[in-house]
Amino acid sequence: VVDVPVSELALNPERGGPKNLPIARVLVDDDESEGKGTCKHKPKLVILGCGWGSVAILKTLQADQYHVTVVSPSNYFLFTPFLPSATVGTLELRSLVEPIRTILARIKGHFLQAEAESVDFSEKLVEVSQVIDGEKRHFYLPYDKLIIGVGSKTNTHGVEGLEHCQFLKTIDDARKIRKKAIGNFEKAVLPTTSDEERKRLLSFVICGGGPTGIEFAAEIYDMLNEDLIRHYPRILRNEVSVHVIQSRSHILNTYDEALSMYAEERFARDHVEVYTNARVQEVKQDKIVFSEKTQDGKVVTKEIPYGLCLWSTGVSQTDFAKNLATKLDKQTNKHALETDTHLRLIGAPIGDVYAIGDCSTVQYNLAQNIITFLREIAWEKGKDPKEVHLTFKDWQTVAQRVKKRFPQAGQHLRRLDKLFQQYDVDKSGTLDFNEFSELLSEIDNNLTSLPATAQRAHQQGQYLARKLNKLAQVAPGMRANELLDGDLDETYYKAFEYKHLGSLAYVGNAAVFDVQGFNFAGGIAAVYLWRSAYFAQSVSLRTRFLLFMDWAKRALFGRDMMDL
Ligand code: FAD
Repeated sequence: VVDVPVSELALNPERGGPKNLPIARVLVDDDESEGKGTCKHKPKLVILGCGWGSVAILKTLQADQYHVTVVSPSNYFLFTPFLPSATVGTLELRSLVEPIRTILARIKGHFLQAEAESVDFSEKLVEVSQVIDGEKRHFYLPYDKLIIGVGSKTNTHGVEGLEHCQFLKTIDDARKIRKKAIGNFEKAVLPTTSDEERKRLLSFVICGGGPTGIEFAAEIYDMLNEDLIRHYPRILRNEVSVHVIQSRSHILNTYDEALSMYAEERFARDHVEVYTNARVQEVKQDKIVFSEKTQDGKVVTKEIPYGLCLWSTGVSQTDFAKNLATKLDKQTNKHALETDTHLRLIGAPIGDVYAIGDCSTVQYNLAQNIITFLREIAWEKGKDPKEVHLTFKDWQTVAQRVKKRFPQAGQHLRRLDKLFQQYDVDKSGTLDFNEFSELLSEIDNNLTSLPATAQRAHQQGQYLARKLNKLAQVAPGMRANELLDGDLDETYYKAFEYKHLGSLAYVGNAAVFDVQGFNFAGGIAAVYLWRSAYFAQSVSLRTRFLLFMDWAKRALFGRDMMDL
């Protein structure tokens, strides 16, 4: 028997599962009939990860309905929207995190600081590993219901030399960036540093013009203006440079165009150099090589020497999620685990396994739904669907029905509107049913994607917890194994609907808001609004207090520039 040093869990002396590993069991107090070591009265709910999605579940789940065990390599929740502020010391790292055990206390859940390696869906076992004194130990954790919320990793896009870059996803990443940036300032003022070297050390390059890259650039810019002269009077402001390399035609390209233009103008005024339509080719130890498409369509190769290069160009699947996808026949998406609209992992036994947040994507099957609605229209006309020619008005009726069911499908429907009109319609302005079905299959891939944001993960976590609460109530007295019928999801709870509440970004003593069609960009008032919006979402009184203290400390004394 492998000794797993986790006080809350006892290991069943018997081994089992496909790899014959020790099986951990939850010891519970309320096992009257079955004796200790078993868990009959409440289903065993295992949650992988303690990020945005998982924490939303833990905060919404009613106590005493499930035996909850969270497995994650990090034992804290990280409030990512403020991570860029921690790289330059505007906020302290500890103010962005909340211990997961504090969050779990309300529902009396267990926590295992370990990593999920694999899942055996037929025996309902998660293979978990821990490294202790350099030795990797494995065991199984049984579940009745499993929720996968393992997040994502940085997308490398296959570019070489990323070992020279910094990333910004974890607390450790933010710490490394802060240390490196301050270290570079210190090196820049040494008497042995040449002018050329000094310029390179003080050059910050950001690859990726999405919200994370832009907020990091903004934080660096703020630090230079507010604290540099005080701490490093020998460094001239114009010796420090900030560059953003963006592959699209605008930065913040998922925001309303007016807002990305505002951010670009702001950066131009603040001497943050933005290269658009530019692709990084290679990151060398001291310089970055990229190609830029000029306005006359020519592609030129450029180089920028750097002292710190941040790589922030989107996300991709973790190895664990990739491994699960290969085990399941019906998983076809290369970027995320596909779920149905009830967030059940497609291909896994129905009702057992859910996936939420960045590691997942919802397969809306919109194309299939549209076809069903089209068929209804045909039957309403008293015709076989295959014989029907659809008018644009028919399509609009269908679109309205689809929108009612899938409010988040708006942009896809607008695209279909256009396609319908552009398509080679016959003289009567109608479209053959089969042709329309083909047209739908062309856009099918787009119909699965939802943004990889905290907002989405949080909504999915809340949805799942509310559903689990409901399932526990609609089946009073139901014992663990009876609660496994996947149809309960559809019988007792609606499908998940994402409601986009808007996007915010900090752009250096200014902020931009793209909130449900209302766009707003501005200076200090907008910054306070931006702070308040996130402040309200932070998870505990403790983090709110710490955040408030950090902002007050910075306002009174400035940032401290120590490479601790
Ligand atoms: P995460 O929050 O990433 O959590 C994943 C968890 O899984 C972690 O606890 C991890 O340790 C754990 N894990 C990983 N592998 C395993 C494994 N094998 N076994 C067990 N556990 C595992 N979104 C917004 O909406 N607004 C913002 O302003 C915003 N700003 C951001 C700023 C930065 C710098 C970053 C990096 C992201 C930002 N995001 C923002 C995106 C947002 O953070 C993510 O979309 C969100 O964290 C996704 O939540 P999640 O629960 O899916 O995963």
